[in-house]
Amino acid sequence: MQLIDGAYQFDGGISPETLVKSYGCPLYVYESSKIKSQYDRLIKAFDVKNIKVNYATKALNNIEILKLMRQLGAGLDTVSIQEVKLGLKAGFKPEDIIYTPNCVSLEEISLAAEKKVKINIDNLSILEQFAHSFPSYPVCIRINPHIMGGGHSKISVGHIDSKFGISYHQLPHVLRLVDMYKIPIEGVHMHTGSDILDIDVFLQGAEILFEVAGHFPNLKYIDFGSGFKVPYKDGDIETDIEELGEKISFRFNEFCKKRNQNLTIMFEPGKFLVSQSGTFLVSANVVKQTTSTVFVGVDSGLNHLIRPMLYDAYHRIENVSKVSGRKRIYTVVGYICETDTFGVNRQLHEVAEGDILAFYNAGAYCFTMSSNYNSRYRPAEVLIHEGKDYLIRRRETFDDLFQTQLSTSLFE
Ligand SMILES: *Cc1c(COP(=O)(O)O)cnc(C)c1O
Repeated sequence: MQLIDGAYQFDGGISPETLVKSYGCPLYVYESSKIKSQYDRLIKAFDVKNIKVNYATKALNNIEILKLMRQLGAGLDTVSIQEVKLGLKAGFKPEDIIYTPNCVSLEEISLAAEKKVKINIDNLSILEQFAHSFPSYPVCIRINPHIMGGGHSKISVGHIDSKFGISYHQLPHVLRLVDMYKIPIEGVHMHTGSDILDIDVFLQGAEILFEVAGHFPNLKYIDFGSGFKVPYKDGDIETDIEELGEKISFRFNEFCKKRNQNLTIMFEPGKFLVSQSGTFLVSANVVKQTTSTVFVGVDSGLNHLIRPMLYDAYHRIENVSKVSGRKRIYTVVGYICETDTFGVNRQLHEVAEGDILAFYNAGAYCFTMSSNYNSRYRPAEVLIHEGKDYLIRRRETFDDLFQTQLSTSLFE
């Protein structure tokens, strides 16, 4: 969404108000053009022979978004058997899906193996059991390089105490298992967390991965995970993808040349591909002046967009019903019966009840983290593609709240 000629508009000149009139409020809106431009930018940043971008499904899992990713040429990164099934349903070939679970049962991993997707294993116990159950099934191993990345402790997953990955200090143990069970290791992987600012952290991790990769002569790919940071507010530092691309490509090409093999470089971004494509539209229910604060209470809350409360994430907010006039300072809050503050001290064009507010960067980890808390419905989702809007998820209804509940006659 952009401010063009004094009006907020999505691709094709579609206004937020028009969408709210057609589909109701609150509403998630995604623009495919932004997803495509981010995908193209990522591919272009790497000067290597073989690159595969596996989109991290958990960021935004609407099946139309997955199909769009497939059309762009992406594969999928999945973290549950349900995401694997979603990917297959969206038409991905099994070899274009990598399954990277953490702390799931061998049973679930077996189901994924039966679907013939790529399996990425992140602990020694499962590596051994899997080799038992599926001898000669190629696997990827997730290495924990023990570097501190990530913008928030909850999204930093590569440090020493992290539950993710096999410590690279345990490599001798891995090698013993690989040797004993003749496990075909086809890939090595790392993912150190979201919002990595410093590309040197990434490069350090990469060096560790190259070192590990040196032990596996039949490798097909090296997966550098993700964690690319995108700007959430003006002046935000983002991962310099072009610089990262140049540096990693150089080292990767060197590595391939030394081995005389054409490996594939893989990445699995979620946020980078979809964050900026999304806008969340809400309506101002009340403007409430207290002794010290002016609140805007909107028709949404942590049930629809929990990142500000969970991660202290900053989402830019604009009053898209007003593009001029004076600005006032507001604290924007939700309607849930606990403190659900979206933003403190935000300058917005003077808000009247009924105005539409927009949250930026609402593509990644927004709808997928929504819930029915307070017995509220989850919002509808709209995709804007080539200048036209399409409803890709209807709003829930009262019946949806009961879909999985069963009645007994106990309390009649
Ligand atoms: C969540 C996740 C990603 C995506 O991270 P982003 O910060 O959204 O790019 C990639 N790989 C794995 C294994 C993940 O769990």
